[in-house]
Amino acid sequence: MKCPFCSADDTQVIDSRVNDEGDSIRRRRRCSACDKRFTTYETAELHLPQVVKQNGTREEFNREKLRSSFTRALHKRPVPTEYVDRAIEHIVQKILGQGEREVMARALGQSVMQELKAMDKVAYIRFASVYRSFQDVDDFNTVIRDLDPQKNPKP
Ligand SMILES: [Zn+2]
Repeated sequence: MKCPFCSADDTQVIDSRVNDEGDSIRRRRRCSACDKRFTTYETAELHLPQVVKQNGTREEFNREKLRSSFTRALHKRPVPTEYVDRAIEHIVQKILGQGEREVMARALGQSVMQELKAMDKVAYIRFASVYRSFQDVDDFNTVIRDLDPQKNPKP
């Protein structure tokens, strides 16, 4: 990279060191032209994407909003808060791992549904019923069938 003092193109890394947390690298550099030294830091750029809503508008990804989806569905259900924390963390990690700048609200909803399905079946149905707003009876049957394929065999 360019020297910030004299703008020469040729700078050398004379030392590089990972920080204690292991999430950043600090490099000492020396300019071959003016011999001045400077430091650069390298960190991973992890940005949560914008959420694209059904109507096409965008909003910031919001953990608390995600949490309220869970708490609404889990109202009065015997599910520990740490399960919700873990589920939110799963979703956030998944989104970060995709490295996209935008995520569809619909895809987020589906992730919430998946997590709820593993957590609490009542909450899952509750969420699914609102989320899919059960446009027809078939929709509802699909959700029930997803829950227990043995009780509700496909025709
Ligand atoms: Zn220089």
